[in-house]
Amino acid sequence: MSTNVDTLVLGAGPGALAIAAALCNEKVHVGILSSNEPREIWPYTYGIWGEEVDSLGLQSLLKHRWVDTVSFFGEGSKNKSSQKNLPTKHSLDYGLFDKKKLQEYWLKQCDDGSVEWYRGTASKLDINDSISSVTTTKGDVIKARLIVDATGYEPAFLKVPKEGDIAVQTCYGIVGKFSSPPIDKNQFILMDYRCDHLSQSEKEEPPTFLYAMDMGNDLFFLEETSLGLSPPLKLEVLKNRLEKRLEHRGIKITHIEHEEHGLFLPMNIPIPDLNQAILGFGGSAGMVHPASGYLVGSLLRRAPSVAKAIAFAMKDINKSPLDIAKEGWKALWPKELRRKQALYHFGLEKLMRFKEEQLRSFFLSFFDLSKEQWYGFLTNSLSLSQLVKAMWTMFQKAPLNVKWGLFEMKGREFKLLIKFLSPSI
Ligand SMILES: Cc1cc2nc3c(=O)[nH]c(=O)nc-3n(C[C@H](O)[C@H](O)[C@H](O)COP(=O)(O)OP(=O)(O)OC[C@H]3O[C@@H](n4cnc5c(N)ncnc54)[C@H](O)[C@@H]3O)c2cc1C
Repeated sequence: MSTNVDTLVLGAGPGALAIAAALCNEKVHVGILSSNEPREIWPYTYGIWGEEVDSLGLQSLLKHRWVDTVSFFGEGSKNKSSQKNLPTKHSLDYGLFDKKKLQEYWLKQCDDGSVEWYRGTASKLDINDSISSVTTTKGDVIKARLIVDATGYEPAFLKVPKEGDIAVQTCYGIVGKFSSPPIDKNQFILMDYRCDHLSQSEKEEPPTFLYAMDMGNDLFFLEETSLGLSPPLKLEVLKNRLEKRLEHRGIKITHIEHEEHGLFLPMNIPIPDLNQAILGFGGSAGMVHPASGYLVGSLLRRAPSVAKAIAFAMKDINKSPLDIAKEGWKALWPKELRRKQALYHFGLEKLMRFKEEQLRSFFLSFFDLSKEQWYGFLTNSLSLSQLVKAMWTMFQKAPLNVKWGLFEMKGREFKLLIKFLSPSI
């Protein structure tokens, strides 16, 4: 049976473009089917650690880069010089991608390769022993040997097992001007957990932190954020917390350039069923880091090896869509990564239940790990044994209230430990 392309990628977000570009580099004939214009600007802001982007040689894709990178895990106080306001210095650069440049970086590799662009929404999937075909809502049919579903957190076709409630991170943010600088000049704040602006009863509610950066020209980006929670924290709560935080420090918003509300980021999406005849990539395929919510670094690192595995499998013309997808899944989710993912989900399960004081103590111990350990943890670049060692060291360093929280089994921890020991289950 004839095909339109070798591989059809569904979507045009970072996940889709990363894998399509890598496949083009492997000389695979690629089709990209997306509901939206592929050059449409993505809605989110993509951050990454400087070292991560440097190691890929892609530092030129950044729009902003900060050297003064800190977090606050003290209680906070109106007295600026109080110990309670002491920053934890990360001593590691942090950057924000220039979204246009990142998009063009991938699109250029696609344009230099062999790519067919299709516009439409995929609504039906048919697969037999030799071919897969996708039908759009308008009735167009595209045939390929492999389908890669990169349609985000609610994938069009990919089967993802249900493993309980999904922990969702929510954020409310503004880019704007203020009556006085809300953070230090040229500073980036990963997490500001100071909570002296909250009443006692608010401190009992799920904690939130401020993610903030000086964007230059008197503009600041401030985002009140919750860690992954189930049910997710309501946006009104986050907005109210941000306003309270600023009011407490006597700061007024004088101009809002951009408001980000309604952003939801699922943190613990399970690894998809690895025995299906299509492949996933990006948010659809559980690639979001369960602790940080970051994805782009992992897309850039993992796309080339997955594309290589697909290209190699396709050389055998007798391989079915299922055979090719299996090779792709093996490259995307090898056993070690699956075991690490179970550990990350285990960690998130714990953090979801921590009260604000426990969380602040937890992060103080976490960032007291060596830079290699905490950075490796946050970028998923430690080996399994290094990850276990980092978690164990962190446990040893942690104060009693955190140790106790880490011990308590209130959720899915037991199941996740079994998954860690035997990731095929
Ligand atoms: C608030 C927020 C902040 C984030 N911050 C960061 C960060 O700082 N750093 C970082 O690395 N990551 C961050 N992420 C995570 C991650 O990078 C993004 O969520 C990313 O957009 C996911 O990429 P994706 O391509 O998998 O999915 P999406 O970006 O959701 O793209 C899905 C694509 O599929 C298309 N599509 C959907 N259904 C169909 C269909 N049926 N047929 C055809 N096309 C379809 C859509 O039109 C879209 O083009 C953040 C996420 C959120 C939500």
